[in-house]
Amino acid sequence: MALEKTKEKLRKADTALAREALGAIAALEEQLKLKDRQIRRMRLDFETIIEVVSQVNARSLKTELIENFTLNTIMGQFAVHRAFIMRQENHLSDRIVLTVSKNVSVPSVSFKSDSPLAKALIKKEKPFRLRHATGLLRYKEFRPIAETGLELCAPLIKRHENGDMELKGIIVLDKKFGRFPFSESDVDFLSLLSSMVAISLHNAQLYQRSIYDEMTQVFSRGHFDAHLFQEIERAKRYHSGGSHQPYSISLVMFDIDDFKMFNDKYGHQVGDTVLKAVARAVKKSVRSSDVVARYGGEEFCVVLPETSKENAIRAAERIRKTVEGLKIATPCGFVGVTISIGVATYPDDASTTQELIREADKALYRAKALGKNRVEVAEGRKPSGDRE
Ligand code: GH3
Ligand code: MG
Ligand code: MG
Repeated sequence: MALEKTKEKLRKADTALAREALGAIAALEEQLKLKDRQIRRMRLDFETIIEVVSQVNARSLKTELIENFTLNTIMGQFAVHRAFIMRQENHLSDRIVLTVSKNVSVPSVSFKSDSPLAKALIKKEKPFRLRHATGLLRYKEFRPIAETGLELCAPLIKRHENGDMELKGIIVLDKKFGRFPFSESDVDFLSLLSSMVAISLHNAQLYQRSIYDEMTQVFSRGHFDAHLFQEIERAKRYHSGGSHQPYSISLVMFDIDDFKMFNDKYGHQVGDTVLKAVARAVKKSVRSSDVVARYGGEEFCVVLPETSKENAIRAAERIRKTVEGLKIATPCGFVGVTISIGVATYPDDASTTQELIREADKALYRAKALGKNRVEVAEGRKPSGDRE
């Protein structure tokens, strides 16, 4: 190498100037090595950030997955033993509550996303050291957070398209285990991760909002259609996979009886109260794996996965009785309603989503025609052993 040859010549020359030049070269080489190490470290950080961001994104539809992954990653990355996350409760409430904590107990504390404390945290912008944040101690909700004695607090801030900032939550971390404190580049890393997590939490909430019916908080029609389609596709795959056991999916469709008259008598607001109460009661009376959805107006559907026609009829009868037994408190006093139900089962009555909905709807229509407040069942494409 040319530099080595020059150094050799300088060493041979061995003059004062040559020695000075050799010293300068050695100092430069040392600096170069240091820079090289820094660049390698930055590259590693950069690769980690890309990996973490894509992993957070991959979990972007489920809040719990986002926060657990985030906390585990940060704790692993920085060798931190204690940490917790507070975030907006759900898509209906922007109250910031404690959701995950690892090895640290935080006294129950919560605050609203538009509270003065939230605004003060937004002002901080970047992760900051808890012990330096004496100004925040004037907010009583912050004191229990500071009293945990942890080290860093990273606000999770979502910047909206119109420039507004919203606090989605905070991540609080203990000191790093070992000799080294958080470096500036650690804080930069945490800052970047925090903004990504804020975006992911926001997207998860938007998704939640889109799959629920706003008034009744059961699933929306769009989600129901997609879900039923997926379930039937899954059942088809199982069945064609050589399984002898037919994989049944049942659909229970119901409609409130004489609801128009009800609205006319008590007014729409009471009508809305009844709709919400019916939805809530039905959701409570089925399994958590059963999907309850508002199909339209005062018509609802329940998808019962892995449920034979026989079992679906039992579930439908239970739902009918639950609603019949409700005494719903309204400004006009306690009121009651009944529902008519149609039941259809895949593959007994239909081979596609549309067909299954059509068959349940036909059965529901029959239940109405035969006097309401009753369950009717699709007659099936072929005689079904289930119903004998
Ligand atoms: P049936 O027993 O045959 O089902 O009679 P019905 O009166 O329930 O049926 P119809 O389809 O004629 O009326 C449904 C009514 O449901 C009409 C509409 O005013 C009411 N409805 C639909 N959506 C809502 C809603 O979101 N809130 C309220 N309060 N009423 C609604
Ligand atoms: Mg009706
Ligand atoms: Mg109707």
